[in-house]
Amino acid sequence: MDCLFCKITNGDIPSKKVYEDEDVFAFFDIAPQAPVHVLVIPKVHIASMDGISMENAEVVAKIFTVIPKIAAQLGLTNGYRVISNCGSDACQSVKHLHFHILGGAQLSEKMA
Ligand code: AMP
Repeated sequence: MDCLFCKITNGDIPSKKVYEDEDVFAFFDIAPQAPVHVLVIPKVHIASMDGISMENAEVVAKIFTVIPKIAAQLGLTNGYRVISNCGSDACQSVKHLHFHILGGAQLSEKMA
């Protein structure tokens, strides 16, 4: 499958890895929009939030247990934001489910 984030999880494209287990991979965003900007993804290909179902919900739940660990690892003790863009209106540019962790500074009150 020609998917950028699948290529990152299997090592075909290099990334600055932050976390990895058998199901989940996390790496620094190449174009950070905050002092700390990490992407957390399932290793299995899920195209977007719209692709989440009861069949793959376990890995999504796991991601949400991993996110606070990554935030702690990166020293985001004062808080952080988690975003997932889904589809065209949300400007999703990579069609592999991912959760942005943004932090390391006071973020805007506006989310859009
Ligand atoms: P989205 O626009 O929500 O689909 O987010 C995709 C994110 O992937 C953007 O923030 C990009 O900067 C990031 N990105 C694209 N290519 C790479 C890459 N090779 N390594 C790390 N992050 C990337």
